[in-house]
Amino acid sequence: MTERRNSFHLIAPHGGTLINRLLQGDIRETMRERAQSLVRVPLTPLNIADLECISTGVFSPLCGFMGEADYQSVVHHMHLTNGLPWTIPVTLAVTSDLAARISIGQTVALAEPDPAGVVGGRLLGVLEVSEKFHYDKAVEAHNVYCTTDPAHPGVARLYAQGEVYLAGDIWVFDRPIEVETTFPRLRCTPAETRRIFKERGWRRIVAFQTRNPIHRAHEYIQKTALEIVDGLLLHPLVGETKADDIPADVRVESYQAILDSYYPADRVLLSVFPAAMRYAGPREAIFHAIARKNYGCSHFIVGRDHAGVGNYYGTYDAHYIFDEFDPRALDITPLFFEHTFYCKRCGAIVSSKTCPHSKDDHIVLSGTQVRSMLERGELLPPEFTRPEVSRVLIEGMRRKNGDPAKA
Ligand SMILES: [Zn+2]
Repeated sequence: MTERRNSFHLIAPHGGTLINRLLQGDIRETMRERAQSLVRVPLTPLNIADLECISTGVFSPLCGFMGEADYQSVVHHMHLTNGLPWTIPVTLAVTSDLAARISIGQTVALAEPDPAGVVGGRLLGVLEVSEKFHYDKAVEAHNVYCTTDPAHPGVARLYAQGEVYLAGDIWVFDRPIEVETTFPRLRCTPAETRRIFKERGWRRIVAFQTRNPIHRAHEYIQKTALEIVDGLLLHPLVGETKADDIPADVRVESYQAILDSYYPADRVLLSVFPAAMRYAGPREAIFHAIARKNYGCSHFIVGRDHAGVGNYYGTYDAHYIFDEFDPRALDITPLFFEHTFYCKRCGAIVSSKTCPHSKDDHIVLSGTQVRSMLERGELLPPEFTRPEVSRVLIEGMRRKNGDPAKA
């Protein structure tokens, strides 16, 4: 048995090597001290999330922020220059003024904003600047987000950032404050998830990405996928999201409530995904799949309109885009799912693929309906959401609306 367990291998990281740019020991102390005298580059929440993902290997094989050749190749061809699939630019934008003060070959310090939003916050690491280059925001917006509409949250962020990209390898000596303070016990790096998967004897693992509470429809999809693999990585995104998304702490509480009662503990790992949302739809679906491959997952669930926002992407675009890649180069297997819902006549959770009945038999609630029920303190129908989850969401909404009397 032991021999058999040791004879298998998890899926290889993207590009073959799991990157680790977290400094340890003496070199960490030396670099932290040296950084104090370097030119400081302010990081945005997106940059901080990217730094965490690069340094812990989530974005393997990237060792830093992209240079111009990789950037252009990603924007125009969805591959790195080495031929590996890659769909989202991972870049560090600065103002022209700051760029002018930095030379190629210089090492700069990467700074968290302090509470006042100015540079002077904690230093996290250093960047060995190998390139600085101008880029075309409209081209990046059009190719990556499929729109140049400034109302798109990813495009808005792109248009607001500096005009020059700094590129080069990074080293990190301190993890971002959020990583150290928010859900510290749920932050498995790819090296850690890989170790846990091996310890549990899991070989095939499916990852479920979410930025929403788990309703019955999601539970059904996760459990259907789990039937064909060994384990489920429940991987909520807790990096920067839109202001109207449900706060990460409320979501994580709701995941724990449902896992305790309805999921076998030895088949599920709950860990948070530190990436920031880009809302780049289909391209982000590929990006999310590659990141999960680095965590050691062999399968990745892709729902309808994955990583979408508004009406910028077609319903199935995040499925179709996988056809544009060599499956051997991606390696991780996408599992495509339809929207699912409870059908009263079937007496089960179904989808349009599996149920012949009419909409009248289906229990479907809009986001607006869900919000107003929760705001009134009403449990959602149990066929739609488990009561354990409803209760957490109702409490969370009361806290958010600052109504301690009702809490
Ligand atoms: Zn039915």
